[in-house]
This record gives sequence, C-alpha cells and structure tokens, in this order.
Amino acid sequence: MTDHPDHDDPVPDAPPSPSPFVVRAPAATREPELAALAIAAVVPTLSDLVAGAQPPVPEHPPVTVTVEEAAGDHGGVMIRVDHAGFGVFAPTDVTAAVADGLQQEVVRQFAVTTPVCPGHRHPARVAVVDGMTGWRCPVDPEHWSCPLGGYPTGDTAGRSAV
Ligand SMILES: [Zn+2]
Repeated sequence: MTDHPDHDDPVPDAPPSPSPFVVRAPAATREPELAALAIAAVVPTLSDLVAGAQPPVPEHPPVTVTVEEAAGDHGGVMIRVDHAGFGVFAPTDVTAAVADGLQQEVVRQFAVTTPVCPGHRHPARVAVVDGMTGWRCPVDPEHWSCPLGGYPTGDTAGRSAV
C-alpha cells in the first residue's frame, strides 16, 4: 500500500463506499472547499446509484472514483469514474453537479437505469428537495423524492424483483 502516490490515498474519515466503488481523493488541492464539497457528495450519490440501479451494478471488479484537482489554471475539481469523468467548477451547486455527473457516468458505464424512481420505470433526476440536493420524479414532483443518500433500500428499493 506504500507505493501509492499521495493523491491516490483513500479519503480519510469518509463513510465506506458501496461496492464496486472505491473513492480516492487528493490530500490537498488549490480549492480545498470545493474539493471537500465534492468529496462529501460522492459517497451518498454512489450509495443511491447502487441502491437504485436496475439491473444491479456488478459488485466486482472494483471501480475507482477519483476526486482530483482539475488540470489548468481555472481551478475546479475533476471527478473520474474509472477513466472517464467530468469537471466541477465554482460557482455552481457542487453537490448537484457531482450527483448529476456521477449519475450520467454510472448510467453510461454500467448500462443501468439509476436511481429508479420507485413505482416508475424512469430514473429520478437531481433536484433541490426541501432546500437540500436530492432526487425527484422527473414527471410528477409529488410522486417521489428523497434527499441525497436517502434512496430507500430493502423491500421498498427500486431494485424490485421481477
Ligand atoms: Zn417517477
């Protein structure tokens, strides 16, 4: 484990990432506040995207999600899912940008629908729910919504049998 460069160190004190994702982040960037916001949004977003995926996202092999400094002098952070990724630049709703970007990458890379809107077949969309970033039914806002990281698991999950 000692042969990893510093910027590949696992995120300290972060909640565990859902399989197959392994989240890594730089020890320091020029924009620590932006990076911290982005990192804080990654794990709950991944949890929802795994919990709400149809078909399920394979638990193996591991997929590395990296939050790193964006190249160039414009600031911002780059979030990579395996070898693809997207940039997040201030000023923006960092949490929403992370959730939206990760949703697009996971949907594309795993060919899944996620997070499935419970009771519907379509994916939920990133939205501001009660002042917080979350997911909402794109067709009927009254039908379903939840805060980021709050996608239901277990019997009520979108990953229904049949
Ligand atoms: Zn819906």
